[in-house]
Amino acid sequence: MDKYSLRCPICGKVYGKYNMTCPADGALLRTEYSDRQLKTLDLPGIWKYYNWLPVNGTILEGSGRTVTYRSEELARELGLEKLYISFNGYWPEKEAFIRTCSFKDLESYPTMQRLKEQHSDATMVVASAGNTARAFAHVASLTDTPLLLVVPESAKERLWIPAESTESISVAAVDGDYYDAIEISSQITEKDGFVAEGGAKNVARRDGMGTVLLDATLTMKHLPDHYFQAVGSGTGGIAVWEAAMRLIGDGRFGDRLPKLHLAQNIPCAPLLNLHDGTPIDITCPDQMWDDVLFNRKPPYTVGGGVKDALDDTNGELYGISNAEAEEAKKLFEELEGIDVLNASSVAVAALIKAVHVGKINPDELVMLNITGGGVKRAMEELPITSLDIDITVSPDKNDSVQKILDVTSEKIL
Ligand SMILES: *Cc1c(COP(=O)(O)O)cnc(C)c1O
Repeated sequence: MDKYSLRCPICGKVYGKYNMTCPADGALLRTEYSDRQLKTLDLPGIWKYYNWLPVNGTILEGSGRTVTYRSEELARELGLEKLYISFNGYWPEKEAFIRTCSFKDLESYPTMQRLKEQHSDATMVVASAGNTARAFAHVASLTDTPLLLVVPESAKERLWIPAESTESISVAAVDGDYYDAIEISSQITEKDGFVAEGGAKNVARRDGMGTVLLDATLTMKHLPDHYFQAVGSGTGGIAVWEAAMRLIGDGRFGDRLPKLHLAQNIPCAPLLNLHDGTPIDITCPDQMWDDVLFNRKPPYTVGGGVKDALDDTNGELYGISNAEAEEAKKLFEELEGIDVLNASSVAVAALIKAVHVGKINPDELVMLNITGGGVKRAMEELPITSLDIDITVSPDKNDSVQKILDVTSEKIL
């Protein structure tokens, strides 16, 4: 029996291993594993959850995984009896070794492995505002796989990796925002020899992110009642919803889906705009607390997407201001003793809000996804290499794509 198959959640048809969306209704395909019960393996990093990852092989070097622990200080501050923090980042005392310091490493490892199985010599193209770029660059560096990063200019400072070689990586900066970077990269992936990582449509990304819930559930020995996460595309929310269905199918961890509490940074919150039917502020993403949370075209209405995840879990979306996020960040760092990425503090602020308005009972099981943190420690302790930009292009020039292709073929092909 195959390890897994991909099924359309809307029409129920089963497709080939590498399909992305259902040709009939456009829905995100979902993985069904032949192992209905979660069996963990004694392997490094994310590969502990190998049996529920859509790959047939592993990239062991440099892989980290989520660490979930029971909060004392923040829990006391908020009056919660059972608050669990799922930390994704670098925090050696807690045995947290995600060296790029965000949960994007949970996506990049299985996605790269899957790419190798599918197109062994293609150059992967990744458009990113920073954390995704870092995660893919990290695994590309360790495996010497060709990678083209297309990033908005503003992402420059976030372009470092906890590894030495940058030989297989080409970096193109677009003088625009994340959306401009996505546009350019989608033109590149139409060319021979280049392949898109697929974003939310790629089950390797979603099931990779879903391991956050696997880790938390094994630690808590039960599915949480509430799940808090800061979202840009909302892919993490979809992933956790899907992983929760699998864990219910497992039979050992309860039979209720966790309620998703997904938080965006206002006013640049396209998921909230889609939810409320309001237009996106045209000044976005300027002045954002963390622009990794800005995605102009999140997978909201697509079958099996964010809307379905929220509807099915009775979930909620939060709009968090910069001031609320800043205050939450201070509180978290002071109480829990680790630095967190700005994006993560948007989730902390949503948790604070939910508690204050009485949405959580003190004895409920609450899971807070700290999607990134520990950069300070990583910078001190790990071999850090910055990624240089090989070319900067304008988003609206006809020859931008060709220029990137030229520079890339010279550098890495
Ligand atoms: C990407 C990212 C998010 C948002 O992830 P989604 O894809 O929207 O689930 C949150 N926090 C950090 C640190 C990120 O890098």
